Amino acid sequence: MFIPYIRDVSEKFKCIAKRYNIKTVFTTSHTLRDSFMRTGPIRAPQDTRNCLYCILCKCGRSYNGETSRLWAVTLREHMRNLEVGHLERSRLAQHSFEENHHVLWEEAMILETEKEPAYRKYKEVAYIACLLNPINQASAGSFPSGTL
Ligand SMILES: [Zn+2]
Repeated sequence: MFIPYIRDVSEKFKCIAKRYNIKTVFTTSHTLRDSFMRTGPIRAPQDTRNCLYCILCKCGRSYNGETSRLWAVTLREHMRNLEVGHLERSRLAQHSFEENHHVLWEEAMILETEKEPAYRKYKEVAYIACLLNPINQASAGSFPSGTL
């Protein structure tokens, strides 16, 4: 599994991934901004689907998720939910609103792509498990399935 190198997080993730027998290789930070600026025949991130992603909050906590849909659409939905106050649809929007925290949308990144839905979910759990204080767990259980 190739994961972006994030200080403090990546080392922890490697330990957890090892338990799941997932080999990890750190790559340099792959942000949306980097991808947009890259030239050449690389598929634009906005055209990427079936991916695992990470959205950071200024407080240092992050939201990890997975989507089968277009990454750009999913990201826009998170933004929109915060914008219009649909806090019940996005834990990230809820966190940002309630804590009055600024979400670092421009740093949002695709962690990796994974076509197999079951394996994608599994990896999502692994990614969340590697975080000390993920936003996702803040209100786990209080959202219906299908919530972002
Ligand atoms: Zn925050």
